[in-house]
Amino acid sequence: MKRIAIFPGSFDPFTKGHEDIVNRSLAMFDEVIIAIGFNSQKNKRYFDIDFMVDKIEKVFLKNSKVKIVVYNELTANFAKKYNATALVRGLRNTTDFEYENSISQINAHLNPELESVFLITNPSYASVSSSIIREVHRYGGDVLDFLPYDLNDQ
Ligand code: ADP
Repeated sequence: MKRIAIFPGSFDPFTKGHEDIVNRSLAMFDEVIIAIGFNSQKNKRYFDIDFMVDKIEKVFLKNSKVKIVVYNELTANFAKKYNATALVRGLRNTTDFEYENSISQINAHLNPELESVFLITNPSYASVSSSIIREVHRYGGDVLDFLPYDLNDQ
């Protein structure tokens, strides 16, 4: 049976830290679905959703084991629909741990067939966060080093 993992998040923007988690997941699973949670009614994104999907697609252009899907439902249900048996998340610090711990308990309740898998961040990317990148970018700072694509490329 094909081992399918989902990697859910906002990815606003998708960073080198996220890319690292996807690449390491590929060593364990046959397919990794980058699942971008987005509700057009509720979410105010900084980076446009279609723009970000396009950028992520380019990062994994040569890797047919990576899929990118935008979703707007319970992650546990989304995983069922895509026959995923693992939910991958990255852990940078204890704050991430506290949050992920509670979510994984709820997800285990909602979808007992879905195992949460946590990857400890590569130290090179431990301080990279989408929210800090948004702040730096908002005020005109250079964020190129933190992203696996060029924001200015069309
Ligand atoms: P969310 O809005 O659901 O927290 P994010 O897009 O911020 O989603 O992050 C998605 C996942 O990637 C989370 O598991 C988060 O902990 C992880 N992550 C974020 N930044 C990094 C990083 N620099 N290195 C590794 N994992 C990361």
